[in-house]
Amino acid sequence: MSLSQTQAHTQAQTAPQLDQLRTDSDRLWQALMDLARLGATPKGGVNRQALTELDRQARDLFIEWCRAEGCSIRIDNIGNIFARRPGQDINGPAVVTGSHLDTQPTGGKYDGCFGVLAGLEVIRTLNQHDIQTRSPIEVVAWTNEEGCRFPPCMMGSGVFADQLALDKMLAQTDAEGTTAADALDAIGYRGSDMVSPSEIKAYFEAHIEQGPILEDTANTIGVVIGALGQKWFDLTLTGVEAHAGPTPMALRKDALMGAAEVTLAVNRIANAHQPHGRGTVGVMNLHPGSRNVIPGQVKMTVDLRHLEPETLDAMAAELEATITEIGQRHGLAAELTPAADFAPEHFDKSCVGAVRQAAQRLDCPHMDIVSGAGHDAIFVNRVAPAAMIFVPCENGISHNEIENATPHDLHSGCNVLLHAMLDVAGVVDAGKE
Ligand SMILES: [Zn+2]
Repeated sequence: MSLSQTQAHTQAQTAPQLDQLRTDSDRLWQALMDLARLGATPKGGVNRQALTELDRQARDLFIEWCRAEGCSIRIDNIGNIFARRPGQDINGPAVVTGSHLDTQPTGGKYDGCFGVLAGLEVIRTLNQHDIQTRSPIEVVAWTNEEGCRFPPCMMGSGVFADQLALDKMLAQTDAEGTTAADALDAIGYRGSDMVSPSEIKAYFEAHIEQGPILEDTANTIGVVIGALGQKWFDLTLTGVEAHAGPTPMALRKDALMGAAEVTLAVNRIANAHQPHGRGTVGVMNLHPGSRNVIPGQVKMTVDLRHLEPETLDAMAAELEATITEIGQRHGLAAELTPAADFAPEHFDKSCVGAVRQAAQRLDCPHMDIVSGAGHDAIFVNRVAPAAMIFVPCENGISHNEIENATPHDLHSGCNVLLHAMLDVAGVVDAGKE
């Protein structure tokens, strides 16, 4: 047999075996349920906020599980936990996955935890089948993704990716005045391991969708191509408060009339830029708020989102022009100030491709999708190639104790994660050793 024939022969033997490789649905589910006991709420959800005693217990359990699989553990200076399974290329960059273990006060069992435990299940599967990868495989639990106890969101991944300053983050306080640094020390998770983004060959994050699209289209896997950029504004419209009776319609400067028109315009602007446009007025406060007084002032918020930076800019420009026109027509002073600006993120094309191919190969109904929410993967993508895998959640609901996902969908997501990671990591061919 020639060398090329030998190689072809070996590949023909091993490739189908690898293609048949699946994670263990029951084991994944059991891990999710075991973790969900820490901070379980009577309504079936989880309240396990960042850097609390419950967060410590969840971290300890995760580390115990990873150590049992032979992983080495590193903890960095913001408390991110890295659990590594060595590869053949012992010092090479790792194929990394993960998410977060903290929850909202009214959180569910899957947001974040699924991504961390899917990574653990990948490692358990590789160990069970004695599969050696070329690149190391690593699972990370990022600190404080939710940002509900210590703002901002995505604190751990933000520090790791140099998008947030460590000193500033450690000084952030909760409602009681406790600093993040003290909270980290209190639970024993202020580490000293230096972990560099250059150690990441690729990063994949599995997560529940937190929206209704996959369920609505009967897809099991969302191939996440990017995340919407966001522009937040505060708007104050000022007219004249006046008596509702003696003031004729034509002589009013009614701030609420302007606010109502702006609200409709926000909706129209978002609808004009589909499928990725979003426009929301979430807050509206009227002054003076009396039933027989024409509102003299309205303070409101506008939230615009889109995947393309140019389109998002155009939407903001259109909003500004529309507000000027509406203000003039109603005799109102309009003050529009930016409150936040998050750039849209496009995930790495080859990582996205690995997810899509894995979904295809595993015959999972899938579609390209965009994240409307923030995730650790968005920060990681700025310093290493990254992509995400979404699975459906019931009625698109999350950050709610009734958050739900099916064992079948979670298992599919975990299998896609396994195969996407193996594609990038490479498998050491036993036949050639
Ligand atoms: Zn999350």
